[in-house]
Amino acid sequence: VLELDNVAKQFGTEDVISGLSLSVRDGEILTLLGPSGCGKTTTLRLIAGLERPSAGHIRLDDSAVAGEGRFVPPEERGVGVVFQEFALFPHLTARENVAFGLQKWTDEQRDARVEELLELVGLESHGEHYPEELSGGQQQRIALARSLAPEPEMLLLDEPFSNLDVDLRVEMREEVRRIIKEAGVTAISVTHDQEEALSISDRVAVMYDGTLEQVDTPERVFQDPKSRFVAGFLGHAS
Ligand code: ATP
Repeated sequence: VLELDNVAKQFGTEDVISGLSLSVRDGEILTLLGPSGCGKTTTLRLIAGLERPSAGHIRLDDSAVAGEGRFVPPEERGVGVVFQEFALFPHLTARENVAFGLQKWTDEQRDARVEELLELVGLESHGEHYPEELSGGQQQRIALARSLAPEPEMLLLDEPFSNLDVDLRVEMREEVRRIIKEAGVTAISVTHDQEEALSISDRVAVMYDGTLEQVDTPERVFQDPKSRFVAGFLGHAS
């Protein structure tokens, strides 16, 4: 579905990303895991089209969206983004938030899609509530529903649990994984929290200083770290 080939990004003279290559498979949940400042958010922004690579190229569904002389803007990439702070519209109800990206759909199609998503995230009875009347976990469910509504090819999640209480995080990890799998969408999430990465992902891409150290299943990354950094970061320093 998604391929990054030797992607680099500089801000001024600083290399934030260098030589980053990654293939994301149809329907998988892949998490970029690494310490603060290693370039995770920048990688997500490159995929979304919010930044242009300085070198290399990015392909979505076998067509170039960045590099090779092309640059496809974010709104044409079929990518949904869930922001850290959820970014719900405070003056719209939950139902209206979910419907927001469906303005070009017919009323009938839109209503059906919104109901389907409210059901998927378990909030059929909360459609008329405003964001401030919802708990953190419920706000996250609505943010997910809103991003999934226009049927994106791919969902990007930037530190999706950082705004939630610690107790709620564990519950929501399972829920977010269930919702993404039921929606059948390919997802890339970003975190510095190893437990979170290991629990929600099909594969984990460990990132350090702008490059990928290891891309593997959670079990393999944990049990068979390929570098001193990966071992150290996952608490298996040798
Ligand atoms: P965090 O977990 O703290 O968000 P991160 O791994 O997501 O970190 P990025 O936000 O991608 O890291 O930032 C990587 C580096 O790039 C940092 O040193 C940051 O200061 C720098 N950076 C990011 N965006 C810009 C920008 N627009 N202009 C200049 N430097 C930037």
